[in-house]
Amino acid sequence: MFGAILGDMIGAPYEFDRGNKTKEFPLFSRESEYTDDTAMTIAVAEALMDTLGKPDGEIHDALIRSMHKWGRMYPDAGYGGMFYRWLLSGSTQPYGSYGNGSAMRVSSAGWLYDSLETTRRVAALTAAVTHNHPEGIKGAEAVASAIYLARTGAGKAEIKDYIVREFGYNLSRTCDQIRPTYHHVETCQKTVPEAITAFLEGTDFEDVIRTAVSLGGDCDTLTCIAGGIAEAFYGVPEALAAECKARLPKDMRAVLERFDALRTRVRPTRPENRICLEMGDITLLDVDAIVNAANKSLLGGGGVDGAIHRAAGPCLLEECRGLGGCETGEAKITDGYRLKARHVIHTVGPVYRAGDTKCKLLLSDCYRNSLELAKAHNIHTIAFPAISTGAYGYPRQEAAMVAILTITAWFAENPYYGMTVVMSCFDEQTRRCYQNVMDGFVKEN
Ligand code: ADP
Repeated sequence: MFGAILGDMIGAPYEFDRGNKTKEFPLFSRESEYTDDTAMTIAVAEALMDTLGKPDGEIHDALIRSMHKWGRMYPDAGYGGMFYRWLLSGSTQPYGSYGNGSAMRVSSAGWLYDSLETTRRVAALTAAVTHNHPEGIKGAEAVASAIYLARTGAGKAEIKDYIVREFGYNLSRTCDQIRPTYHHVETCQKTVPEAITAFLEGTDFEDVIRTAVSLGGDCDTLTCIAGGIAEAFYGVPEALAAECKARLPKDMRAVLERFDALRTRVRPTRPENRICLEMGDITLLDVDAIVNAANKSLLGGGGVDGAIHRAAGPCLLEECRGLGGCETGEAKITDGYRLKARHVIHTVGPVYRAGDTKCKLLLSDCYRNSLELAKAHNIHTIAFPAISTGAYGYPRQEAAMVAILTITAWFAENPYYGMTVVMSCFDEQTRRCYQNVMDGFVKEN
């Protein structure tokens, strides 16, 4: 929930079209304060934690009680008119809203359940207590689904497909297309697709937040929604989480801490970025993706390419036929079929020519583009063979240097991603080359 609350705080100064529609702005200022989005996110989270495993009727009643409680404790958080009247009157009846309030407060539902079906059912409940219009319910379900998918390892393309297919939102516009005419609107229909687009386009947690703010509109809510999804996909940088905590009152912090403890039990925290060496056959590794040192046709070959196609079975070749080949240094992704790995990332290494500096850049591109593609598919364990060091003749030690330097540079750019990179070593000499680089024995010339 830090992601949603950070989005709320960081977006708050720019609400009501007060921003300059740019990604360049100070993340925090004196005006970066929590608003109604945070108060109700906390209220929903508390109600859901209190009713885990209980019937829907109890969840429904707990949601109303909790929203009334937190709403009265924080009456000046900036609620919309209809919701405020609902709070003040103590009403327990919904009022047919399709305002974006149902989507902004739902993030905890994306984390607490172990199936997408339950996640959607509970998300709908959190909306229906006030926002029982079909669009209000749809907004909440869509956001909770995106969070569920992101935290369980789906890639961006998969999340996008699911949202379009299930909820019919238009996600075909880019942020550059949305930005010029977008303005303050408080409906689910005109906030949820824009927030999801900002998430899809952003390149890390902070970039998603900045992208969402740059769209303008109902900025705190838009960014709250985008931030909630981004947290599930990327995690939240420690420094931002600390800043968030420092800006929250104690009672809200206590709910967040309880939620975090519970969530940790639901899903282990992501590991740090790290590299490890593994002797043996890459096709046997139990990782999210293995990288194939392919040739430009992507239609199979010798060496590691042949081994991967043999192990994955004929469906891999079938899928590769539809990819239209691949340029040197670039990367394309397929399913893993019979492999333990869910995916194969195919990249084409350069054929080595002594003294040709382009070789080194192209080899580096192979590693970088493979990692970027992995990130776009929410892959957190990836195994590389020693690309180009077989038939393509790249000297092993030089190739190891390029590989390790490229991977560590990518780690530095993505410090919170949590990627485990396995360097698959088919022979002892290759392992020694990597070890030399990692021990600092080989200096780049
Ligand atoms: P390239 O054409 O890019 O040089 P090769 O497949 O000829 O690709 O060789 C790349 C590296 O992969 C070589 O170091 C080779 O020893 C290694 N290799 C071959 N088969 C496997 C395998 N099954 N698992 C891991 N590495 C392998």
